Amino acid sequence: MYEKKRQISDLNENELESFINEYYNSSNSVKHIIEKYNLNIKAADIPKNIPSQKTTIICNSCSSYLEIKPKSRMVFKFNSVEEYICSSCGFIGSIQDNNKVKEEKIRKDKEEEDYLRKIICYQEEKYESSYYCLIDITTRTIYLTLLKYMVSDKLGHFTNIASFEKNEEGIHFSPTHDMARELIDIIHHSGLLKFSQNENNIGKVFPINNEDWNDVSDFQYFPLSIQYMLNKKNFEVDWVSKEIEKCHEYNNIDNYNIDSVISLWRKIAYNELLEYLQYLIEHEHKIKSGLDYIGEAVKQSLYSILEYFSVSEGYSIIYSSMEKTAAYKQKNNITNKHAINLLPKLIETNISKRVSGEWNRNNFERNYNLSQSSFSLTFFYDILKIGDDGFRKSPKIENLVKNKQILDRLEYHKQENTLENHVYLLEQFYPNIKEIVDESRNTIIPDIASLFYKYLADDEQKRDKALEEMSELLDKDFSWLMLNLYKYQKDI
Ligand SMILES: [Zn+2]
Repeated sequence: MYEKKRQISDLNENELESFINEYYNSSNSVKHIIEKYNLNIKAADIPKNIPSQKTTIICNSCSSYLEIKPKSRMVFKFNSVEEYICSSCGFIGSIQDNNKVKEEKIRKDKEEEDYLRKIICYQEEKYESSYYCLIDITTRTIYLTLLKYMVSDKLGHFTNIASFEKNEEGIHFSPTHDMARELIDIIHHSGLLKFSQNENNIGKVFPINNEDWNDVSDFQYFPLSIQYMLNKKNFEVDWVSKEIEKCHEYNNIDNYNIDSVISLWRKIAYNELLEYLQYLIEHEHKIKSGLDYIGEAVKQSLYSILEYFSVSEGYSIIYSSMEKTAAYKQKNNITNKHAINLLPKLIETNISKRVSGEWNRNNFERNYNLSQSSFSLTFFYDILKIGDDGFRKSPKIENLVKNKQILDRLEYHKQENTLENHVYLLEQFYPNIKEIVDESRNTIIPDIASLFYKYLADDEQKRDKALEEMSELLDKDFSWLMLNLYKYQKDI
């Protein structure tokens, strides 16, 4: 009688058990056993199809349970060493191999822990308390934000950004994650903070060149998940209020370079528009991963909005442009990417019709689902003290300073500012610097000032050229110092 051939998986429990027993232990040929069980399988494929045996041994790569890998009949007879497999992570190897994974992990953990410790020492050395009163407006705002919103229970510590975003209701650190990363990098370079030596930070700092675990000057870290603490040795119980007090004490709009103030306002405003656009794309128009569709041209058009309008009016411009895009998309059945690529043109039209007065201008309130970030709140309420104007007015000097005389003074100050500040900074290292500068003000210094402005371009080649030119004017060490100080205090 013809009977359909079966697979090993078709065998019932008892059949399977006796099949396995016969395969390994009987003297019958494999061919014979295959025929006996009426299987459609090649002899060589049997081990792959026998179910593996579960064990209670933990896989050191992923913590699941290992299984014993079924052997072929030949290997079973001549080799008693078991091979294990992990169905979760794909590990295959002997018990010794599994143990090696553990040893390697312990070694790696130790290496990462040592590296974290080395980096913290490096950060502690870098800290210069005398710079405290001179930190720029961005660093100061970040620092105050951390003090106001993100102090953790442990003395001197701050909550990491990732857990702050998850735990707090509605409020987050900054409008976008990219901005958060950028801000953290800025405050990290100020030397005000250091990484906390705790278990959660192990493995979050590693050398840029992955081999050289002694190189502490060039490292990478996870800015949003690492935990920070104030770069100090001892903390009093009321350290938070003392630090906040210090922040306010030195916070005076006249101390800042007005350009860097406006540029930070613009940066926040831009990121709030970007956040809103992403929200509209993802939640109102139900397109997943909205940020992936927002290209350079769209980003540029968000900046153009801020040339004329506030974030509040920008919301309205973006909203109506998105509506038009969606309507066009539905009518013409185009892709999401194509639709969002239409935005810059629509935004541009919207801007020019509003500017010319052809269209009525209107403002939106903050979106209920996008509450103001803690960084934005700190900047507008504590640092600039303009409150909601940060949202309702466009980021411009005249919206910050009403008084015409002050405006004129700022305009004048703007040209002198960089140099004056450097003299102030350098006085701490060269007490006689003011004399030297005053003496040479009309000869050497104007050239240096212009070189500083060149340096602002942040272009490496230009910077080297500037250094070269400066070296001709002054002795080399002195110009090197000035350049580095400038680099450090660029935003003042
Ligand atoms: Zn595993």
